[in-house]
Amino acid sequence: MENVSTRPIVWTRETGATEKRDVWTALKRGFRGRCPRCGEGKLFRAFLKVDNACSVCGLDFTPHRADDLPAYLVIVIVGHIVVPLALMIETNYSPPVALQLAIYLPLTFAASLLLLQPVKGAVVGVQWALRMHGFDENNPEP
Ligand SMILES: [Zn+2]
Repeated sequence: MENVSTRPIVWTRETGATEKRDVWTALKRGFRGRCPRCGEGKLFRAFLKVDNACSVCGLDFTPHRADDLPAYLVIVIVGHIVVPLALMIETNYSPPVALQLAIYLPLTFAASLLLLQPVKGAVVGVQWALRMHGFDENNPEP
């Protein structure tokens, strides 16, 4: 009779472990527009266009789609800055409405534009760290 290997497979946390991914580090790297894994390669190839892969470590960015989440987060962040500011100024100083609009509208527009790319990078970084990505049968673990 042939002898079959009876070496038991012990499943532990480390058995199927892949690389460790720190969410906070990936978030910060994405916020700076850098690859969440290596922190060196650029994440974006255009203003809001995520590159296909990292030029330094080769991480595939294609399964990571932020969709509309960055826009919602920017609305929440900018809204929590501009609205209390407008209410505080209106309550204490009551400047003319035209003056307020001349300040708040450009401020809101500029803050939204400035935050959109970093927030999208942070979302992609968090997606990568938490392994939240679309299924790709050719590369199930990007
Ligand atoms: Zn990289």
